[in-house]
Amino acid sequence: MAALADIVAFLDAELRTSEIPDYPAAMNGLQLANRGDVSHVAAAVDFSATVVHEAVTRGASMLILHHGMFWADATPIVGPRYHRLSLLFENDVAVYASHLPLDLHPRFGNNVLLAQELGLTPSGGFASSQGMVIGVSGSSDILTATLVERAKAFCERNARHLVTTPVRARQMTRRWGICSGAGASTDTLDEAVELGLDTLIVGEGPHHTAVQAPDLGITILYAGHYATETLGVKALVAEVATRFGIASSFIEAPTGL
Ligand SMILES: [Zn+2]
Repeated sequence: MAALADIVAFLDAELRTSEIPDYPAAMNGLQLANRGDVSHVAAAVDFSATVVHEAVTRGASMLILHHGMFWADATPIVGPRYHRLSLLFENDVAVYASHLPLDLHPRFGNNVLLAQELGLTPSGGFASSQGMVIGVSGSSDILTATLVERAKAFCERNARHLVTTPVRARQMTRRWGICSGAGASTDTLDEAVELGLDTLIVGEGPHHTAVQAPDLGITILYAGHYATETLGVKALVAEVATRFGIASSFIEAPTGL
């Protein structure tokens, strides 16, 4: 058994929760307290009824999320929202969320870990948001088709089908950038051109990014918003479990996107 306050203090310090800017609604940090003890910490990407039910079934007393509970303005606590919250209260489950602080973390970050999954070694940053560098970039000398195979295998392990813009025969990936989640946008494509990147690995992006990419000489691998953001919370709960000697688990709730 560990004290919620100790786990929160560790997470706040490790993730630099109060220092990293984010969208106001991200509300990083402890979002819901419990009575104070944690014996099992569960992780999930998103906050949903499925995730809350599963956390309760597993006897978790703390839930660590990448996308937390509050993404809209003040909303009445009725219907499904009431149901989710009442289950958390009744079962004494605390909720901690970490969005951008987790994306950019040098050890538990979604971007660093995705590079590792794909056998790539970051040497720089990529993708600015809220004045922070969120993603990673680096150099390589591999066939883009090889990278596509690795990304396909990663996606298969995370209930996702890889989508890519066209890849030419014997095309090479020499300068790549990674941004998990909604990583493809007009801004990140502009930045990729500035940095001379030829391959982007992202979670998802609007249709126009796939139209623009070939014109810009860039190949985009869309590995899934959900899939690319499973890595950080998984690594984080494993660390919390080891450090505090408590049980941990990851709750799969793929969105398909
Ligand atoms: Zn996200």
